[in-house]
Amino acid sequence: MPKIANITSKNLEEAAEILTSGGLVALPTETVYGLAAHALQDKAVRRVYAVKGRPSHNPLIVHIMDSAHAEHWAKVNSMARTLIQAFWPGPLTLVLPKSSRSVSRIAGAELETVALRCPKTTWATAFKNFGFDGPLVMPSANRSGHVSPTTAQHVADDLGDKVDMILDGGECQNGIESTVLKIEEDHAIVLRPGAIPAEEFVPFISDLRLASKPGKLIAPGMMKSHYAPKAHVRLDATNKRAGENYIAFGPTDLEADFNISPTGDLKEAARNLYSALRLLDNKDVIAVAPVPTEGLGAAINDRLRRAAANKEH
Ligand code: AMP
Ligand code: MG
Repeated sequence: MPKIANITSKNLEEAAEILTSGGLVALPTETVYGLAAHALQDKAVRRVYAVKGRPSHNPLIVHIMDSAHAEHWAKVNSMARTLIQAFWPGPLTLVLPKSSRSVSRIAGAELETVALRCPKTTWATAFKNFGFDGPLVMPSANRSGHVSPTTAQHVADDLGDKVDMILDGGECQNGIESTVLKIEEDHAIVLRPGAIPAEEFVPFISDLRLASKPGKLIAPGMMKSHYAPKAHVRLDATNKRAGENYIAFGPTDLEADFNISPTGDLKEAARNLYSALRLLDNKDVIAVAPVPTEGLGAAINDRLRRAAANKEH
């Protein structure tokens, strides 16, 4: 098995060395665990796709360790600059036109845009002190299409010794992926609902559009079936049927196998969702109670819909 390493100065130094020399390290972020590789090294980026079994047409988010690095890789207009100031470091990914510089072409699926994020982490400062300041490609550290990992053990369960090191930062704070916003000249489009609810962008963006129909392919790599357990997922379940595992939300008299938030708190539900889907993946069906669609509920429902979609690949 790979080394699951605590966040100590020695282990952080080793992780920075592994990344510098083209290795793969699973890292905790505020969203989920990421599978990190040096974004400028083709061989390392290729290995990320291979280890995850990720289709090559699904582009990777480029993670920078300092928000000031954004202008190096992308053309940043005033709307993007405002969002960067308000939300970085944090769980917001911005899709922007590329600058003249590019990370490994393998990461970008031949697009003219680049997806950039500056995560809030416990390791960026240490890496910088050890002489490594990115950029990193860092998709979620799970097999492609499976449920994302929110603990170091989830990563070990999915990827085993295919990674060189797993840094254990405990359970991820948000537990759900970043919100992906495409920035155009005069408007922005939510490509993927995520840890920052779309409502929070309204004060900053006069023309904010939500990507059209759920399940429609709106960006490369946004597969209908994703984030999926082996079990069939039954949505909006108001009862538990024989032979099912049941995920509840909010106060209930029903016998639940996992209540992702007994008080009905969407933040807590987002944090617990992937753990619940992984833990209860030992029966044919996971039934899930309705979850409200406002705020963070948009991202939770998006992931549940994808978890429930037929697996076409
Ligand atoms: P993941 O790394 O699995 O969290 O997924 C990253 C997502 O970001 C992908 O599924 C893409 O849809 C999206 N993405 C990455 N790069 C771009 C881009 N240049 N344009 C649009 N979407 C992108
Ligand atoms: Mg992923």
